[in-house]
Amino acid sequence: MYDFDYQRPSSMPEVKKALATSTDAMPLAGGQTLIPTLKQRLRKPAVLVDLQGLRGFNEVQSVGDKIVIGAMATHATVAASPILRKRLPALAALAGGIGDPHVRNRGTIGGSIANADPAADYPAAVVALNADVVTDRRTVTGDAFFKGLFETSLEQGELITSVHVKLPEKAAYAKFPNPASRFALVGVFVAKFKDGVRVAVTGAGPTVFRVKTMEEALAKSFAAAALDGIAVPASGLNSDLHAAADYRAHLIGVMAKRAVAACS
Ligand SMILES: Cc1cc2nc3c(=O)[nH]c(=O)nc-3n(C[C@H](O)[C@H](O)[C@H](O)COP(=O)(O)OP(=O)(O)OC[C@H]3O[C@@H](n4cnc5c(N)ncnc54)[C@H](O)[C@@H]3O)c2cc1C
Repeated sequence: MYDFDYQRPSSMPEVKKALATSTDAMPLAGGQTLIPTLKQRLRKPAVLVDLQGLRGFNEVQSVGDKIVIGAMATHATVAASPILRKRLPALAALAGGIGDPHVRNRGTIGGSIANADPAADYPAAVVALNADVVTDRRTVTGDAFFKGLFETSLEQGELITSVHVKLPEKAAYAKFPNPASRFALVGVFVAKFKDGVRVAVTGAGPTVFRVKTMEEALAKSFAAAALDGIAVPASGLNSDLHAAADYRAHLIGVMAKRAVAACS
């Protein structure tokens, strides 16, 4: 680990001030990715701004026809939320399938989507639900938030404060987990809205992406059989020691059908 300055403010204005003290300042949420990254000397922030001192950013609330999830809500909080379990059980189940109990009790939704790991689960939900990612500066739609491998539209010092989710008629997430980490080898989130269907895939490519051919077929007939014969090309998909690109391409079809069949 390199040396860094550590700050733990207790209000949003103090957090913003601390992040503005250096162009190398970074927020620290659950630390599940950032701490190992620091230990491996892959990041060298001048200032680490711990968000754990903030109050009021870790709740799940119903606001009108949306559900608002604070950026510091842990995966365990999301998984156990009575609001989500009743109104959007697919998202609660997704959070409950992340990593292990330690990771779920420390890792946060804000940290997960800011990190934009290609195999993370939340990006599939954020894009399939076209959730609004609200920061201290603006609101970014799910479609516009993820830019590439570990890359988002966040600017230096910009802080995610909450995620606003529109409720679909039906939704489900199916993942084929890496048996060691539980990260997604492939995960598919399917959401059916009044005006259409959205299918988002994580784990398979450098970043989350939608499958328009599947969305069109499901808009005509919302049944797993509607996906018969729809193949996602393997070119451009991830190929590593865990799975080859053509295996991941095949898994997209399998997981998409499972998600549609599980839709509630
Ligand atoms: C063993 C293990 C297994 C895991 N398995 C899974 C899995 O199955 N599925 C899955 O999806 N994930 C998995 N994860 C990742 C985990 O879920 C965490 O969500 C993820 O590591 C980052 O969240 P965090 O809160 O710990 O963020 P941190 O590690 O604290 O931060 C990560 C990055 O986000 C930035 N950041 C944090 N909060 C904010 C914010 N509010 N605004 C702007 N930037 C911010 C930080 O500066 C940093 O760059 C696993 C991790 C581990 C260690």
